Amino acid sequence: MSIENYVGPAVVGHYMGGQVVAGRGTRRVPVYNPTMGRVVREVALAERADIDDVVALAAAAQKKWGRTPALTRARVMFRFKELVVQHTKLLARVLSEEHGKTLADAEGEVTRGMEVVEFACGAPQLLKGEFSESVGTGVDSFSLRQPLGVVAGITPFNFPAMVPMWMFPVALVCGNAFILKPSERDPSVSLLIADLLKQAGLPDGVFSVVQGDKLAVDAILEHPGIAAVSFVGSTPIARYIQQQGVLHGKRVQALGGAKNHAIVMPDADLDATTEAVVGAAYGSAGERCMAISVVLAVGDATADALVERLNRRITSLKVGASDDAAADMGPLVTSIAKDRVTGYIESGVAEGATLVTDGRGVSVAGAEQGYFVGPTLFDKVLPQMRIYREEIFGPVLSVVRVPDYAAAVALVNSHEFANGTAVFTRSGAIAHAFVRDIDVGMVGINVPIPVPMAFHSFGGWRSSLFGDHHMHGPEGVRFYTRLKTVTQRWPEPEAVRADFTMPTMK
Ligand code: NAD
Repeated sequence: MSIENYVGPAVVGHYMGGQVVAGRGTRRVPVYNPTMGRVVREVALAERADIDDVVALAAAAQKKWGRTPALTRARVMFRFKELVVQHTKLLARVLSEEHGKTLADAEGEVTRGMEVVEFACGAPQLLKGEFSESVGTGVDSFSLRQPLGVVAGITPFNFPAMVPMWMFPVALVCGNAFILKPSERDPSVSLLIADLLKQAGLPDGVFSVVQGDKLAVDAILEHPGIAAVSFVGSTPIARYIQQQGVLHGKRVQALGGAKNHAIVMPDADLDATTEAVVGAAYGSAGERCMAISVVLAVGDATADALVERLNRRITSLKVGASDDAAADMGPLVTSIAKDRVTGYIESGVAEGATLVTDGRGVSVAGAEQGYFVGPTLFDKVLPQMRIYREEIFGPVLSVVRVPDYAAAVALVNSHEFANGTAVFTRSGAIAHAFVRDIDVGMVGINVPIPVPMAFHSFGGWRSSLFGDHHMHGPEGVRFYTRLKTVTQRWPEPEAVRADFTMPTMK
């Protein structure tokens, strides 16, 4: 594949048994280019029978793959990593066309995903077990982690390359077969990933892609041949996935929505904080689960100074086409997303928040039909307002004024979502207290988007994660393996007599 001659297919198909297939059904939905606001292709939607087909192929392939030495599996990942590096620009261009994020942002997404591939290359070390010698006379005991079998990942539109890469590199090196169900809004990059895995030497059937909607998701959740499901998406669907998956006997990790608060203390460096907050709130048009969408400004003086700086900085941002190298942010993913976000702006105004910067009505020359909403800033937002309580998932930042640090922490800790949060301060004492006091899964100290590196694990608390395991890092290895503990005796030559009491290591 080369960047110059790659053209996406008219209909994005599934990937099963090492090749792209049309599937058994005829249902399709359009895929849009959100910059231009027009349909660019269609994506096939899997039927239940397609899920049966793909699970059968995956199960057959997993038998051999699961017994392949971890080092051999890791070597496939080494080659895949090199291929991802070589094709970063192609992957970024393809995902950015369907998502709308800028090319630079899309390349960053591929790089963050690739870091999980690098982590997975350490599989032989990650899968090392534990051994206890002589737990009894002539008895040793050891524990090992074995693959689950066939596992599935269901992913959101906002990171069509990175979120699948949070999952499958770890799942594969642990010896599982992986079935990806990408978002139907930006499905194309999944087929490029499948092709690169094949080029890297992954046996056919070990990685598959099924395109689809709720029908495919339900078939995955109910299929007895799938042992575990990883999900990333909105909270109502995450809750549903976890409940249905567990009902059908699966291990589930389901990451949901977010409302990430940044607390700005009076002693913070306000210029640096402004830059950090603007990037974290409006990058990728706010369509990031770790975007900052609320600033808790401690004290009116802090709030006045910060709002003035934010407004000035926001006014200089460039909203543009996803392939405009000068653009700071592109369009939202669909016209529905645009309508939802502008609806929230209207609701904020109606509920009495102060609209400082209004992103409605933005028009981009040459892309007049695009789904653009410009950066929007509200001040004097109150906790009972919808724009505070609900996830907007767009370029809308709410400033809530609080009297002190304790009030700020109380608000963060009582919000429905608990994905990420950050504090901006020069005080080590506040930073230390914040880490202790805050009930949120991922925490930043003067770091606006505290996304853990691949060798740590990613996950929120409360309604931002359902299930017990965070993603990638050590938690990912635990999720995609199960523990087996062996107690072995190699008898000495003399005879052993039957013992009818509870076994203890005498
Ligand atoms: P979504 O929940 O609409 O879709 C996610 C996946 O679920 C898609 O593959 C979709 O096809 C499927 N799906 C949608 N409706 C379904 C239904 N009724 N039944 C079964 N499956 C269904 O999410 P989205 O709009 O694609 O992504 C944005 C959301 O994802 C935001 O809420 C964002 O916060 C969240 N997100 C969270 C994280 C995290 O790490 N916590 C990361 C990225 C995105």
